[in-house]
Amino acid sequence: MSSRLFDQIIFGPVRSRRFGVSLGVNLLPVDAKICSFDCVYCECGWTDSSSSQSLPTANEVQKALEVKLLNMQAAGELPDVITFSGNGEPTMHPEFDEIIENTIKLRNMYSLRAEVVVLSNSTQLHKEKVRNALLKIDKAVLKLDSTNETQFQRINKPAPGIHVEDVKKELLRFEGKASLQTMFLRGQTTEGQIDNTITREIDALIEFAKVMIPAEWMIYPIDRPTPFEKLEKIQKDEMDEIAEYIRSKTNIPLKISY
Ligand code: SF4
Repeated sequence: MSSRLFDQIIFGPVRSRRFGVSLGVNLLPVDAKICSFDCVYCECGWTDSSSSQSLPTANEVQKALEVKLLNMQAAGELPDVITFSGNGEPTMHPEFDEIIENTIKLRNMYSLRAEVVVLSNSTQLHKEKVRNALLKIDKAVLKLDSTNETQFQRINKPAPGIHVEDVKKELLRFEGKASLQTMFLRGQTTEGQIDNTITREIDALIEFAKVMIPAEWMIYPIDRPTPFEKLEKIQKDEMDEIAEYIRSKTNIPLKISY
């Protein structure tokens, strides 16, 4: 199995295919993934519930970020974006709201042009503190790979009790103040076929997006090795076709990362 875990709280800066020069923040353990999903394509590998589960405190995150921003400032290389992603789902951190407040303050002190971005799997949006924190940042990028429960279960392998209808309901509460992200992929699993590239799937995503009206819709194919190895990377030509089809049906700003 392939996996890529971030071994620090602050990582990078890296040139992100979606965001430019990105300084990463990992609120999860440095030796394991914690997530309410177990996506077949997750670059961090499969979720391991027997791991240490040891999270950095809000104070530790604040200190590590400040040191890094000071160093970057001294080197004249401030980031375009401070991105919360890392080894799992950042909004599951119990001090997520405090960490976001601290990060906005540090950004305002050291790197005013940098956007604060959170990549989230959308499963914690029912928590008021999480929702309010996401509404304070520059860009909340919220995952929805399929509107169909069967595909949702096969692609994202959510923890028990998480269903796509609940996720969709929470996404709609953002009323245009968040972006949407969708991974397109195909594969054959023991639970059945995965394919969110067929017209029926894309049409359902478009219909949902028309109601959600995300600020932006980011679509992308698999980029790195995945824990479930029998997945098909959607090639550039097909991603372009999907993008063209979506653009023919909606005016939502669409961004493809190859
Ligand atoms: S939501 Fe993100 S971190 Fe969680 S399993 Fe899926 S890809 Fe991995």
